[in-house]
Amino acid sequence: MRFERGRVLAGRRLEEALLVEDGRVAAVGSLEAVRRASPTGTDVVDLAGGLVVPGLADAHLHLGEIARERAGVDLGAVRSLAELRERLAVYAQRHATPAIVGRGLDLERLAERRWPTAEELDGPVADRPVVLFHASGHAAVLNTAALERAFGGRARPVRSAAEASVLLEDEQAAVRPLVDEALPLTAEALRASLVGLAGCGLTTVGTMNTHARELDLLRELADGGRLPIRVRAYPPLRPGAGDAGRARAEERGRLAVVGVKGFLDGAFGPRTASLSEPYADAPGLSGIDREDDRELADAIAAATAEGLAPALHAIGDRAVGRAVRLTASAAPVAAPARIEHASLTPPAVLRELARARPLLVVQPGFVLSDWWLGERLGPARSRWAYVFRSLAELGVPLAGSSDAPYDTADPWRGMRAAVDRRDELGRSANSWPDQALTAPEALALYTEGAHRALGLPERGRLAPGAPADLVVLKVPRLDDALRTGSSAVRETWVDGRRLDGAGSGAEARR
Ligand SMILES: [Zn+2]
Repeated sequence: MRFERGRVLAGRRLEEALLVEDGRVAAVGSLEAVRRASPTGTDVVDLAGGLVVPGLADAHLHLGEIARERAGVDLGAVRSLAELRERLAVYAQRHATPAIVGRGLDLERLAERRWPTAEELDGPVADRPVVLFHASGHAAVLNTAALERAFGGRARPVRSAAEASVLLEDEQAAVRPLVDEALPLTAEALRASLVGLAGCGLTTVGTMNTHARELDLLRELADGGRLPIRVRAYPPLRPGAGDAGRARAEERGRLAVVGVKGFLDGAFGPRTASLSEPYADAPGLSGIDREDDRELADAIAAATAEGLAPALHAIGDRAVGRAVRLTASAAPVAAPARIEHASLTPPAVLRELARARPLLVVQPGFVLSDWWLGERLGPARSRWAYVFRSLAELGVPLAGSSDAPYDTADPWRGMRAAVDRRDELGRSANSWPDQALTAPEALALYTEGAHRALGLPERGRLAPGAPADLVVLKVPRLDDALRTGSSAVRETWVDGRRLDGAGSGAEARR
């Protein structure tokens, strides 16, 4: 297969043509050279002036949750509590599910900027449980029926009267059975989500915190040859759970279990990210420290002995510091130890990162989505959030990801965010211009960077001998693709084969 009549991005160079044989890149260079290298009768793909880039990877998303989002109530567009109640009432009328699950509730976008109370949720739906997840996935609010189902007569966490029906972080485990029952996960929904992601140009994804049901369904798809793209799974790291809760390394078809995901803190939205100084807009709070370092270190040692790499969630600066120390002491395995998010890295943490250089899995889209961060942290501190340029200059390896469905899955939006660092309204979590990346650097986050993070260092570049994962864009330049987004994707190829039905910029939001 020879790709010609367009351009091919090979490393930092633009070439004229590309030859693929037996699922690998056989030649890349001038049209003349690639034609000479081609056996007679080679099929030709007419690029029609478009650009070929390496297949993209998203190093951190939640496939099961993306698949489930197709069901349930999408609350991303809700702007007031009145609107929220109306949406719930309409949804409840049309859906007979045993419980109502909503996602994407963003308090910063509500006129009231606060959680609804259980009683306010009982108004539209009193006959069944209602569970509404915060946009970050790190908190949820329940109506009275859901509180009863989840806790019965047992004591439940109550921090304040205003947030008496809000569950933070681990507390959400109490509603998992209820959510699983309302929105059962299916293999078809997982597959459809992967086809949608492939339509954005993704050829590999890392699915984090992979629960047993999701992993079983992924195995079923892999065994049947029905995974459209490669999936790397990271089941939960369970400190203190002993042997029974332990994940095992495995590889079958396009699926592999290569690591385990642990949590050191929460998120900025619900103020559970662990900070070394209190929140600027809530002086009594400085976040939540999850897990004990010694138990974590033991669980990591058990995981690496099994060949699984730790992936540690750390957003606040205090959590990132812990994660640097924990990853530094982890034994090396096939996939790299990684820190997820590493959002806030003031100078003291940057110095530790410069010494240890752990791989950081970042989400450039958060620069846009967390536009309210200056208020949470204060301007002096938010200046050290999402400092991709500073991190790259210190030689810290970076990988791109979306954290979908907790942010938009579209990798092109992520790249644009890394370059522009402002949304259409000019808002930003940290608008310091010195942190912007160039378009090729942003692409590298989602090609070489994200593949390396998932233990696939040979992927993410179009060089002779490399596996032929690639994306054919309708536009001639990388900058155009960043402006256009995933609708610029014409075709996605995995191991030298074009995916059917994946290449019209399929649905990629949330
Ligand atoms: Zn995540």
